[in-house]
Amino acid sequence: MELWQEMLRQSVDSGRELVERFGFDKELADRLNKLFHIRINPYYLSLIRYPNDPIWLQCIPDGKELEEDGLPEDPLAEDSHSPVPSIVHRYPDRVLFLTTSQCSMYCRFCTRKRKVGDSSKINMKYIQGGIDYIAAHPEVRDVIMSGGDPLMLTDFMLERILAGLRAIPHVEIIRIGTKMPCVLPQRITPKLCKMLRKYHPLYINTHFNHPWECTPEAKRACEMLADAGIPVGNQSVLMKGVNDNPDVMLELMRKLLTMRVRPYYLYQADITKGANHFRTPVSVGLDIMDKLRGHTSGLAIPYFVIDAPGGGGKIPLVPQYVLGRNGNQIILRNYKYDIFTYPDVEEEPGTPTPTVERKFSRKARPKKVYEPDKVKV
Ligand SMILES: *Cc1c(COP(=O)(O)O)cnc(C)c1O
Ligand code: SF4
Repeated sequence: MELWQEMLRQSVDSGRELVERFGFDKELADRLNKLFHIRINPYYLSLIRYPNDPIWLQCIPDGKELEEDGLPEDPLAEDSHSPVPSIVHRYPDRVLFLTTSQCSMYCRFCTRKRKVGDSSKINMKYIQGGIDYIAAHPEVRDVIMSGGDPLMLTDFMLERILAGLRAIPHVEIIRIGTKMPCVLPQRITPKLCKMLRKYHPLYINTHFNHPWECTPEAKRACEMLADAGIPVGNQSVLMKGVNDNPDVMLELMRKLLTMRVRPYYLYQADITKGANHFRTPVSVGLDIMDKLRGHTSGLAIPYFVIDAPGGGGKIPLVPQYVLGRNGNQIILRNYKYDIFTYPDVEEEPGTPTPTVERKFSRKARPKKVYEPDKVKV
């Protein structure tokens, strides 16, 4: 057994341990354990500094998960975009490929709580179906292996899937979404990297949410992937009490760059049943973005996105930089709130209006409008 597998076996994963190690009430611990899996491996556990700190909140269950929040289990309507059990096909040219239900840690804020950890919903037996689907759809040029965490698979199984995908001529790039560099960096071994580099162009997106996760071990894992020629990006989730603070986020983004990880997305927390206590007002995310752009390297700046409820895909949100328009003059502000005027280029007569405006004027309004009370729960 490899070290990482041994570490997983030593995870805190029962209601009993919540009672014994964290002083939970037994009845509460049992209810939480039934609701969503618990798994905290000894490495991630060692990052906790004090109760309810940003690491604790991400991995130790909380009674708030049991609140009747009336929120959907599948806020992104992934199941309705799922032509076969292992595929989510929402965008024209790329798919999510769910390869395992297992995670090295079960994050309390997970959007896929309804599926993750449940091998009846995400299962290896569906993998061939996914590969067949991709092979039959020539428009799919980008496959994002997700789950669960695909690096929970053995190197052997992972390689079979990668080889299967690489055998499909129209698959141009493969991406792997994995939390391992953050939660169990011991998973990134020289053997794994040697295998992965055979399947380029390969990209990895990992998932760090707080600067305390940027340890020497995590740095080494990210560097090994980068040395294998794999561009590593990061997707963070904005969460109350974890990272809803511009200084914390600035430190995280800078640290990631020193680990050779490029910030990619910052997600507004989804409206997921059992994870409502993590949500922040959208203004908090916009304020963070405002305090990043211009104040630090452009490379450190992720896109702040909302994954549209009901399954519209990711929508980027940007602080207001265009203050208005005065005839041909566009009034802008910079990161220090100094005001500038930019003389726009005069449109030649007969030039069509820009695509976005045209789309809206033709249809009068967007077709689907989110109506919270119509979301099925
Ligand atoms: C996020 C996501 C993707 C990938 O989106 P990019 O913006 O290309 O990174 C693809 N499919 C689904 C269903 C997604 O949620
Ligand atoms: S690693 Fe990803 S899929 Fe697994 S529990 Fe965490 S957020 Fe969910």
